[in-house]
Amino acid sequence: MKIAVFGCGYVGLTAAIAFAQAGNNVIAVDSDSTRVAKLRRRVLPFFEPSLKDIMRRNITKKRLRFSDSAKEGIEFADIVVCAVGTPPRLLSKADLSYVLKVAAAFGKYGRDGQAFINKSTVPVGTSEQIRKRISKAARVPFKFDVVSNPEFLRQGLAYRDFVKPDRIVVGLEGDARRARSLIKKLYAPQLKKKVPLLFTDIRSAEIIKYASNAFLATKVSFVNEIANFCEAAGGDTKEVLKGVCADKRIGNEFMNPGIGFGGSCLPKDVNALISIGKKYGFQFEQLRATKKINDTQPLKFASKVIKEMAPIKGKRVAIWGVTFKPGTDDLRAAPSVKIVEKLLRAKAKVSVYDPAGLEKFKEIFKGRVTYCGNKNSVLVHADCLLLLTEWPEFLRPDKKIMRSLLKDGRIFDGRNVL
Ligand code: NAD
Repeated sequence: MKIAVFGCGYVGLTAAIAFAQAGNNVIAVDSDSTRVAKLRRRVLPFFEPSLKDIMRRNITKKRLRFSDSAKEGIEFADIVVCAVGTPPRLLSKADLSYVLKVAAAFGKYGRDGQAFINKSTVPVGTSEQIRKRISKAARVPFKFDVVSNPEFLRQGLAYRDFVKPDRIVVGLEGDARRARSLIKKLYAPQLKKKVPLLFTDIRSAEIIKYASNAFLATKVSFVNEIANFCEAAGGDTKEVLKGVCADKRIGNEFMNPGIGFGGSCLPKDVNALISIGKKYGFQFEQLRATKKINDTQPLKFASKVIKEMAPIKGKRVAIWGVTFKPGTDDLRAAPSVKIVEKLLRAKAKVSVYDPAGLEKFKEIFKGRVTYCGNKNSVLVHADCLLLLTEWPEFLRPDKKIMRSLLKDGRIFDGRNVL
């Protein structure tokens, strides 16, 4: 099939590469021409190591190319996949301007029989807005399908998640027989692997994405609240969770207490769902608590460090890991940022090491912290160590080296992994 994917970010680029790898002819479009130029030089614009080789292979085989022209992408394709950002804007609402811009371009350059498949995370009702925007921009009316196909991949595991997700959710307008068969063709490799394909109405599909992220976020905040209670009441969180998670109805996933969730999705989507609720006169009591717990969790951790290391003024705090999770260079809403801000305000000296996130961390903190090249050099002259991201290289530390470098040997394990 001929496919145009709009947005060469974590979702769009992964989708474009996977569709090409499945034998389709794909053009990946991004409005950022610097990003497109980089991709044409076969360089990934972000840290997602699993993508590099497959991307290069598909460029060589001429199944994947890049463009900054919406016209070129839409005129080429039978299917247009929209995977542009929907970042938070005023009052935590999702900013739909990027999605609607792609819709307007589809209206302008589209033709009979094309499908607009939306992968961006959008509030319920957006697909109807997309349809209106396309029709308004169309020079002459044409027949098209709008499909909601939310994405659930995780950064760091993007390709693996895309080619073998837990499920594929597809929201259709009415019967939409043509769109239904297009989707089956598009996801044929996943269907071969017995991935469940769930067809539903378009509004439900939009809600499924937010409800899933809201539930994951709630799990994290719940487990953090239990951990905070264990500390207050004198229980061992690890022991408590071992007992709790043994119940099959509860399970182990997303049940690790720590400094809270971050990244470009969970915080943004929790806020957006609270805000969408208000539009319908609905108060998400549960989610407001999820958000509140997560907002304060990194600050509680920093307060604990400040208290234990008192007086912290002038002391050197070493940090292992700053990205919001391992396997990515993404710092969006990373708890590390709040923690380091609080430590600097308390006049601590901070040294950081992260295998992938230092460049982005430098953009935020500039010369206010010291940047180190490896996990041992960051410990030199440090008074204590904070583990903030559970990168594999931190999980089996050389205790001898640590003992010889760390002044008083105190470690604050923000991810409960050591
Ligand atoms: P991103 O910020 O990494 O990338 C978005 C890309 O879209 C950027 O390269 C930007 O230049 C491009 N863009 C913006 N406007 C454009 C336009 N008009 N035409 C072409 N390109 C345009 O975003 P992302 O993390 O890939 O997320 C995309 C969407 O998928 C969001 O709605 C997000 O909530 C959702 N999502 C993200 C993840 C994730 O793990 N990152 C997972 C599931 C869903």
